[in-house]
Amino acid sequence: RLVEVEQISFEEDKSEVNLRPSSWDDYIGQEKIKKNLKVFIEASKKREEALDHILFYGPPGLGKTTLSYLISSEMNSNIKITAGPMIEKSGDLAAILTNLEEGDILFIDEIHRLSPAVEEILYPAMEDYRLDIIIGSGPAAQTVKIDLPRFTLIGATTRAGMLSNPLRERFGMHFRMQFYDHEELAKIIQKASLKLNKTCEDDAALEISRRSRGTPRVALRLLRRVRDFAEVENEDTIIKQRCKYALDELGVNDSGFDEMDINLLELLVSNKGKPMGLSTIAAALSEDEGTIEDAIEPYLLANGFIERTARGRVASVKTYEMFRLNYPQSEEK
Ligand code: ADP
Repeated sequence: RLVEVEQISFEEDKSEVNLRPSSWDDYIGQEKIKKNLKVFIEASKKREEALDHILFYGPPGLGKTTLSYLISSEMNSNIKITAGPMIEKSGDLAAILTNLEEGDILFIDEIHRLSPAVEEILYPAMEDYRLDIIIGSGPAAQTVKIDLPRFTLIGATTRAGMLSNPLRERFGMHFRMQFYDHEELAKIIQKASLKLNKTCEDDAALEISRRSRGTPRVALRLLRRVRDFAEVENEDTIIKQRCKYALDELGVNDSGFDEMDINLLELLVSNKGKPMGLSTIAAALSEDEGTIEDAIEPYLLANGFIERTARGRVASVKTYEMFRLNYPQSEEK
């Protein structure tokens, strides 16, 4: 089971060169998080204790898994990777936990998707490194306690709000991942393109960054595509002109929005300033509510293109300006 998940998480890089940073210096941005983590890691090494449990939250593709790998290499510990939906029964989690060794890191992606029964197993495991297993049922049921090695749980979630309180409280450290600015993404792109045996000019890297929704995963995906175009042209250097051509060809919007963003913004604008509820948006876009909240909205909210009100979502002045439309007057709202 664990092996299965590990393969999935490498999917994007498996095709060829692995672009995942392997050192702190290659991990660009998220400076506050890196600084804090380094302190905690050093302190726990000095005390010779397992690192406290860590929760990363934020939209997909911002580097949560990558940070977890970096922590494990810094701690010189093994990391086991799994995901909430993969752990169906409490027995599955019990098997994973009993196979851990002292100091190991267990990374659970999409941790908000653990079932309540599985979560129950995690509480004593996180708090006291103990597994409480109930054997039998009815009056004859017995609880067997098994000691676990001291391990570190790293949980990742797209939405901290989806986590139950008792689970959230058991993480000693909570880190909220930020979207990356254009300069940070450009650095990531330039480092990655060297690994792909190409140099990337500054303005070319910025061109890709501008269209990457503040997300390294998107930036790297676009870089690979641009690289294909450069390859066909026999170019060793990635230049701005090629980027523009390739990205336009691929239909990547100039302002960094993808098709889903544009659909959502158009929908809100068509409502003429009246708030629209999440379920209505989901139905209109044929997309599930979770994806809209986790993957589409955060970038638009963070950049002020939409606003959330008690009655639903509205497009902001900025969005109307982008579509060259007048902002609806308040009486229309
Ligand atoms: P998440 O776990 O948040 O979904 P990942 O850690 O899988 O995101 O990151 C997605 C991709 O982006 C990875 O291939 C990784 O190489 C790259 N990446 C993410 N964050 C950074 C960063 N800060 N610096 C360089 N590359 C990054």
